[in-house]
Amino acid sequence: MVTFPPGESQDVCAICREPFEEYDPEFAQNYANLVCEACDKKAVTKHGSRDRTKPASETHGNPVYIDGQKCWRRYRFGGYITRLDEHDCDTIEEFHQKHREEFSD
Ligand SMILES: [Zn+2]
Repeated sequence: MVTFPPGESQDVCAICREPFEEYDPEFAQNYANLVCEACDKKAVTKHGSRDRTKPASETHGNPVYIDGQKCWRRYRFGGYITRLDEHDCDTIEEFHQKHREEFSD
């Protein structure tokens, strides 16, 4: 089970539950548990670490932690989106499986 599965409308952030300012619901529904930019700015590279994340590659830029919660990023078009992991996955493949990532580029 995922709180905001892909294919269902999502208009609030999966972490802070504030309405999205930067994403419209149609865009957000392509992704599971999309996280807003305000939360994403708090992301660190390791649990408990103070290192801020830098945009990198799918392998080196994942996972990230926001307020201690594991998240995975999808890097594309020179940017990225961040999604909350509800199942403590070990790899981004596992995350995609468990969060029914059906969006295709
Ligand atoms: Zn948020």
